[in-house]
Amino acid sequence: MPETSEHSAAAGHRFDTVLIANRGEIAVRIQRACRELGLKTVAICSEADREAPYGSTADSFLCIGPSSAAKSYLNQDAILLAARLAGAGAIHPGYGFLSENAAFADAVEKAGLIFIGPTASSIAIMGDKISAKRAMMAAGVPCVPGPDTALPDDPSTIERIALEIGYPVIIKAAGGGGGRGMRVVPKADLLHEAIALTREEARKAFGSPSLYMEKFLEHPRHIEIQVICDDHGNALWLGHRDCSMQRRHQKVVEEAPAAGIAPDIIQPVGMACVQACLQIGYRGVGTFEFLYEDGAFYFIEMNTRLQVEHPVTEMTSGVDIVQAQIRGAQGHVLDLIQGDVTCEGHSFECRINAEDPETFLPSAGVVTHLALPTGPGIRVDTHIHAGYKVSPYYDSLIAKLIVHAPTRAEAMARMREALAGTEVEGISTNIPFLRALFEDGPFAQGETDIHYLEQWLKLRRAA
Ligand code: ADP
Repeated sequence: MPETSEHSAAAGHRFDTVLIANRGEIAVRIQRACRELGLKTVAICSEADREAPYGSTADSFLCIGPSSAAKSYLNQDAILLAARLAGAGAIHPGYGFLSENAAFADAVEKAGLIFIGPTASSIAIMGDKISAKRAMMAAGVPCVPGPDTALPDDPSTIERIALEIGYPVIIKAAGGGGGRGMRVVPKADLLHEAIALTREEARKAFGSPSLYMEKFLEHPRHIEIQVICDDHGNALWLGHRDCSMQRRHQKVVEEAPAAGIAPDIIQPVGMACVQACLQIGYRGVGTFEFLYEDGAFYFIEMNTRLQVEHPVTEMTSGVDIVQAQIRGAQGHVLDLIQGDVTCEGHSFECRINAEDPETFLPSAGVVTHLALPTGPGIRVDTHIHAGYKVSPYYDSLIAKLIVHAPTRAEAMARMREALAGTEVEGISTNIPFLRALFEDGPFAQGETDIHYLEQWLKLRRAA
């Protein structure tokens, strides 16, 4: 008998209340998805976020600690206690904070709750970039040239590895993230110093000195594949995104689909990601990140969580990724098959950050005036309002501006219009910088690489 959603849900993963272990725009986004699914929500906050608007729309709202994230949003015991007090049956970690913490996923399940995400062991495998690379190579996913093992201590062996890969190479921390713990080595005489510096950085920032080395690709694009899997052996991919517009390895603008990539080139990569998910028994949503250069894809890492840029895929695929993720955690069978997945039109997302548009230094303070754009094909994911106080404690993301239109050119025009209609006063934001970027010729042409934005900024400063 084919398994129905009701049948599988009855198998045991039922919950009717979700604690959202996060803040900001993603807390709003997840709360909305829960409500639409008929689920009750528990919002948590630190002292700095006591006035957060999503507190009043949740069924319960608990302050779990002081402003410092380490003592609130990263405090596992406080979050588990809040879940127990509020009667939550599941925890959604959002992105950042504890979303890729295998020990937390484990603690949630040990407390008898559902972690809305993959198993702790999937998170642990993918959280270590070396074991992730090994798993991907075994599943036939193309990877960046370089060994799938940690660098040894012996200097001459390291030199030999670099020569075999060929300069330039990049040294990366196995536990790295957020664009940190990486160093490019253009030539042999800089190798050992780069390794020593990166090892020290990795030890301090990620608690592990483990490093690996791979080919440094000089003009790649960053292209990623969104996957979604259920607990019943079903996995599919929802198309691709281009996140090459980066500053200091941090994404600023994302789009779906990636421009100029023929379906027959991306299709096998998407299917290899699906195969990899099935091979490692992955469940929930995830993203395979690739560098794309000269027509070839190279895996760099997997994010085992919902991503900031998931809306561009929602706009083009029509799939509500957050709802699908929650339904998967409830034990439902995926309600679509690969053949049902289509990609319609083009979508862009701009990350609106509370920061100086020239220096990029964070800008805290009260939003004195706010105007948000409306109209066909425009979506704004945000938690702020006029009078909202942007605190200096957390990430500077205050809103995501998302547009959708039939073609890339039309989507760009729509984003220009949406940015023109966005006004934030009282704090500095990167809106002027985003407006200028959407007037740029080469970006409008598409297919710019991961270095383009930094070079563009340099030219603008020099002008
Ligand atoms: P993190 O986990 O810190 O985000 P990633 O491995 O995803 O680190 O890499 C982040 C960014 O660093 C990539 O989007 C790309 O811009 C750059 N990068 C990483 N590996 C390479 C490489 N082998 N060659 C060139 N650039 C790279």
